[in-house]
Amino acid sequence: MAQLRDDCFAFGGRLIPLDDALSQAGLQFRRENRPGDSVGLYDALDRLASHKVESTEAVPPHPNSAVDGYAVRFADLHPGEVTTLPTDGYAAAGDRPEPLPLGHARRILTGAVLPPGADTVFMDEDVGFPDTAANGAAVELPPGLKVGANARAAGEDIGVGDTLLQPGQRIGPADIGRLASVGLQSVAVLPRLRVALFSTGNEIRDPGQALGPGQVYDSNRHALAGLLERAGAVVSDLGILPDDPDRLETALFTASGTADLILTSGGVSAGDHDIVRRVLERRGEILFWRLAVKPGRPLALGRFGDTPVIGLPGNPAAAVMMFHVAALPLLRVLEGGSLPRPLSVPVVLDFAHRKKPERIEYVRVRVAPDAQGQLRAEKFPREGAGILSSITWATGYVALESDRLSVEPGETGQYTAFDWTFSAGRLKHLDGGPHDG
Ligand code: AMP
Ligand code: MG
Repeated sequence: MAQLRDDCFAFGGRLIPLDDALSQAGLQFRRENRPGDSVGLYDALDRLASHKVESTEAVPPHPNSAVDGYAVRFADLHPGEVTTLPTDGYAAAGDRPEPLPLGHARRILTGAVLPPGADTVFMDEDVGFPDTAANGAAVELPPGLKVGANARAAGEDIGVGDTLLQPGQRIGPADIGRLASVGLQSVAVLPRLRVALFSTGNEIRDPGQALGPGQVYDSNRHALAGLLERAGAVVSDLGILPDDPDRLETALFTASGTADLILTSGGVSAGDHDIVRRVLERRGEILFWRLAVKPGRPLALGRFGDTPVIGLPGNPAAAVMMFHVAALPLLRVLEGGSLPRPLSVPVVLDFAHRKKPERIEYVRVRVAPDAQGQLRAEKFPREGAGILSSITWATGYVALESDRLSVEPGETGQYTAFDWTFSAGRLKHLDGGPHDG
């Protein structure tokens, strides 16, 4: 069959499946034993743990009451009938526990340590909120409660020796809460990635400059800076470079001195001005630059000296899509983690779609539940790789695998939310990383 000139996928060589390219680049980019910094809990949010952290404390530290009510010794109850016990004392959260005399019930509030001897708590609702003002007043305890009811065991949340953080794990707000709950004030984290970011193209201008004929504003660098920041990187903004190999080479050389990663956009396809790819070929190394994905086929993965370089496509929607599916996973590898697999869920596709074989297509979709609670995906009406509006409209993407050539309304597809790709440090890993299982 003749290849059509407008099929931009028709030219030159084999297209590499994205997963293969990422796995191989992941091996090349792998950083092990990056030294950690110790940070206070307030600075730990979204950082990656550099070491495994195990608890030396139990949480809660002592058995305590889960409710407001009356603590008793289960053995004092009459099986199958109401038991009436005199009350003795009062236990609130923070009080030092006093032993419970035989045959008594103790007024107890939520969080109070169970008095030694007590093992079971009747909640106020089950004993009809008796007048508790008078110490010694009797309380009627109905039958039916199990031993240990409404009592929280010491260590039921966290036991001594339990894992609080795995190496490489992204630290979330509840993780910080768990560290605090065992009394830790600081945690060892991996250093943030330093990413040098620039755009390429003679036609690219910064907002604030006047646009000449044929020129466009730089949307990529601004969108990518935000994505990098959300990913936890420290961004060094190197501006816009013209399509000039010498200037590019100088910029790459300078950036490679301080950055852990160089991220560019534009200049990676097969055109005359596609200098990022050519300079890397000449002065560094190109691992891949033709991937079997749409949008985003021209994506250069390589290095300049020892510094990894990810050359994203120039088309703005392709640049952002490829950031999510290619750059972000590799960022995690460079940080010292392993290659994450994005979380996806099945959704009903409310659209028809045709695609070419042998490449994954990321269809930008908006997902919402229907009246039955079933998630349904709509696709953005315009598919071009330059249409950044598709990304702001979409909530995420549906990945259509290589061998799937068409979609009819009502079929199912695998959906990934853009926001979920950022939590990838907590999710399953392609290569059996630390959080598998
Ligand atoms: P390229 O990959 O350099 O061939 O660029 C592909 C398309 O994306 C061209 O239309 C460029 O003008 C456009 N483009 C490249 N870089 C940017 C950028 N930083 N911001 C907006 N559009 C861009
Ligand atoms: Mg260009």
